[in-house]
Amino acid sequence: MRAFSPLSGTIAERIAQIRQALPDSVRLIAVTKQVSVEAMREAYAAGVRDFAESRVQEAEAKQAKLSDLTDVTWHLIGHLQGNKAQKALDCFQWIHSIDDLKLAQRLNRLAAQLPQKPQSLLQVKLLPDPDKYGWSAADLLHNLSALSQCENLSIQGLMTILPYGLAAVDATMAFQKTAALANTIRQQNLPHLQMQVLSMGMSNDYELAVQAGTTMIRLGRILFGDRP
Ligand SMILES: *Cc1c(COP(=O)(O)O)cnc(C)c1O
Repeated sequence: MRAFSPLSGTIAERIAQIRQALPDSVRLIAVTKQVSVEAMREAYAAGVRDFAESRVQEAEAKQAKLSDLTDVTWHLIGHLQGNKAQKALDCFQWIHSIDDLKLAQRLNRLAAQLPQKPQSLLQVKLLPDPDKYGWSAADLLHNLSALSQCENLSIQGLMTILPYGLAAVDATMAFQKTAALANTIRQQNLPHLQMQVLSMGMSNDYELAVQAGTTMIRLGRILFGDRP
């Protein structure tokens, strides 16, 4: 894994330090899996309004404790099982981890009942990685017309998680390829498929993702410290 330099200071100071170096076009999403609600409140006080969780149940429990924070946007970034799709739609405004057609279609069916279309991203995996979910480029291109019929989802772009242990040049190349894939799809002008959002970059590689043109970064450890 590529290391990152831990930042010193409080959560608020870390957030300020990272923000300062970010272009305005990049949305900072705080990844709060296994992070206490107290630490989340610190991040909120420092201006964070986007929280991401990997698991539906953990998000639900935290939302109950943070119900006074009414202007938070919640993002699901972990693999979603079909049987949790309804819960996920109840808990999250953004779903970054749509990784197959069945899941997209199921969410689409359920979303017909919602007042607002869920903001959705397609998770891609452009480098082989047995530990991760996601579409290959070929798979995704093959399924585009079916995805563009998911008229109750607002599909905004692509999300990716890189395999561990990549050298910086390889990470950069993978981010650039993801951005290029989004461009290729955008040029097809398919209904219900926007491609202006890229969710790429974590604590160890977000600076490379920013250089490659990402619009969302998902930061956990660099803000909150190592997870237990
Ligand atoms: C845990 C996680 C992150 C955050 O990773 P850090 O290394 O803690 O910054 C980002 N994205 C996804 C999908 C994750 O599961």
